[in-house]
Amino acid sequence: MPSADLVIRGGTIVTPSALVRMALTVKDGKVAAITSDENVPSAERVIDAEGFHVLPGIIDSHVHFRDPGLTYKEDFASGSAAAAAGGVTCIFDMPNNAPPTRDAATLRAKIEVASSKAVVDYGLFGLLSVGSLSDVEALSSSGVIGFKCYMGETTGKIPPPSDGEMLEQFSEVARSGLAVAVHAENDSIVRYLTQKLRAEGHVYPRAHYESRPQIVEEEAVGRAILYAKDTSCPLHIAHLSSAGGAELVRRAKTDRLPVTAETAPHYLILDESMYADLGSLMKINPSVKSRSDRAALWDAISDGTVDMIASDHSPHTLAEKTSQDIFEAASGFPGLETSVPLMLTQVNRGRLSLQRYVQLASANPARAWRIYPKKGCIEVGSDADITIVDLSARSRIESKRFHSKAKWSPFDGFEVEGLPAYTISRGKVVMDHGVVDTLRHGEMVVPGARRRVTTHSA
Ligand SMILES: [Zn+2]
Repeated sequence: MPSADLVIRGGTIVTPSALVRMALTVKDGKVAAITSDENVPSAERVIDAEGFHVLPGIIDSHVHFRDPGLTYKEDFASGSAAAAAGGVTCIFDMPNNAPPTRDAATLRAKIEVASSKAVVDYGLFGLLSVGSLSDVEALSSSGVIGFKCYMGETTGKIPPPSDGEMLEQFSEVARSGLAVAVHAENDSIVRYLTQKLRAEGHVYPRAHYESRPQIVEEEAVGRAILYAKDTSCPLHIAHLSSAGGAELVRRAKTDRLPVTAETAPHYLILDESMYADLGSLMKINPSVKSRSDRAALWDAISDGTVDMIASDHSPHTLAEKTSQDIFEAASGFPGLETSVPLMLTQVNRGRLSLQRYVQLASANPARAWRIYPKKGCIEVGSDADITIVDLSARSRIESKRFHSKAKWSPFDGFEVEGLPAYTISRGKVVMDHGVVDTLRHGEMVVPGARRRVTTHSA
């Protein structure tokens, strides 16, 4: 009888600090040993990872599965299958559902949905919105991974809290020991500019970018950082898109404030000149910005200002996504099945190292959201969440083959170099060369003991 459940041999293990030719032994869902290839025990399954890189499971800390409420766009089954297909072993789902995940009852309902459908592990965000103050404690004690505050308009039309209310909520979250992720856009400026552009008949795709100039993000990032400083509330800037926003995060880190930031592949690869070709398909909030913003975000990746990469997977139907009036088109696009290949392509092009990618996509999100070292690393005793990648595989993004219900993408047809070959969730292979095991059940991850956030920088 084999003594281990799974052995992965022949590959190169990538950690934030090293690349090592070692074999992994997995038992009962955990990493049981890290040894030389010769010293592995017999196992029920052996993966020959010769020529592949073995990464700690990729964590996508920002997705929208639309379940409950808007399951025609996506549900936990299709969304988590997309995660497995994309090489992602753990996702954090945002709370802008119908109804929003805003109190103990709606969180319970979401847990019921997720636990019956998820293929990979998941964390769940609780909502901070108008009237949320009294629900913070119940949500944090029920296991939310953190809180999400929409400072601007979003799918689900959740009204942003007033500045006073937001400040009070930050204080309450600080007491819970969790962190607040903000969608940092100034609602008032966006509304004003949108109305003006529409009145002038400017409803072409690029008008979306014109309605959200850099100051829209920069002002909100600055305000959120001031509130975090005042309340000592750990703050996370979701989907950073601008040079000005990045600079404010950089200064906050210099000032040793508890601030982390995430950006997404689309802000690192697309820019506003591409509205001409991609049209409404590339509409997302915050908007994709200029080439110089894109360059500034790469600098922020290099110097440690940006801590993590998340996809902001935001599925819609193609009909909702396409309109002659850009302001009528839905915001967001699916990202779970393109994020890892797009970023591995950037690794192959020399924009970042594979080790830096592991920091950004696994170790840092696990640390910031307090699930490290259960996840986010390959160590004896950690969950056996592993993403095995083939850096030499060349392909083209084919959105019609997505597992997501949204079978379209602004990246459709993009050439990629580097693909996930296996996705392994707590020792079970949930994706093998594109084939997903949808029978697998993911589990909810909850934040561990309170710890000071120290993420790996470049
Ligand atoms: Zn989002």
